[in-house]
Amino acid sequence: MVFQTTLKNKTTFTGIGLHSGAPTDMTLRPAEAGTGIVFHRIDLSPAVSIEACAANVVSTRLSTTIGSDGVTVATIEHLMAALRGCGIDNVHVDITGPEVPIMDGSAAPFVEGLKAAGVKVLSRPRKYLVVKKPVTVCDGDKKATIIPSRSFRISFDMRFNHPVVSNQFRSVRLNNDLFAADYAPARTFGFLAEVEALKAHGLARGGSLENAVVIGDDRIMNEEGLRFDDEFVRHKILDSVGDLSLAGYHIFGHVKAYKSGHDLNHRLLTELLSRPDCWRLMEFGDAEKEASRFNLPVPELVWSEAS
Ligand SMILES: [Zn+2]
Repeated sequence: MVFQTTLKNKTTFTGIGLHSGAPTDMTLRPAEAGTGIVFHRIDLSPAVSIEACAANVVSTRLSTTIGSDGVTVATIEHLMAALRGCGIDNVHVDITGPEVPIMDGSAAPFVEGLKAAGVKVLSRPRKYLVVKKPVTVCDGDKKATIIPSRSFRISFDMRFNHPVVSNQFRSVRLNNDLFAADYAPARTFGFLAEVEALKAHGLARGGSLENAVVIGDDRIMNEEGLRFDDEFVRHKILDSVGDLSLAGYHIFGHVKAYKSGHDLNHRLLTELLSRPDCWRLMEFGDAEKEASRFNLPVPELVWSEAS
């Protein structure tokens, strides 16, 4: 049996929001089993609490934003990915502004802080969502699907039509150590022309070369270059881990994404959750047994350009 977890100690992160540019303090503190991840806007009086779950997603434009009664917390995906990547199920997040600090644009600072705070095992078993039938969502030529699998796997196929970066593909069976080393450090990114347009519209106000990879017309603008040759697709996988963690359960399933993003990730999860015939909640032993029936081959490419 696998049990739910929380943090052993509090941990605080301070920084600015990528889109708002607002300085923010964010303190994560231990929570009881069954709490999930709950944000508290403590800058408001009275404080407003928002559970991090698919039903509370209010926007997926540029980042994933949750809200309740008109109060929101934006850009939660990198923190959510770090929590899932570190196997932390329950935590209270006290935040002093409308957006999670962007830190260095990756999930690595969060992973580091969570590891330093330590993980505490609780006495209630963790539930797993076992995918039993495929679910697919599309948006034009963009697609995301989740199929039964004996593990949590993400295959991501992203297409670039740009002189500096080419198409990138990765397929990975995620576990905590692998996530921390190979995915958490991958930074968010944008094209120089798009970043300038966003800033003109009052977005990406906190964005800089300190917290994003910026792709110029003929080169990467960051002096230090990339952290991985395929840092972009690794970041898309990181985003997907964060967005899918809003299921509230660890997943046994294989996500196949073609040119997907926050919007399609959210639509995939909402579609899956709305179809109870396509999944079952189980404790670890039963989930593993159920999922072991699925041993589907991993495709080299998710979809070809022509399909
Ligand atoms: Zn991201």
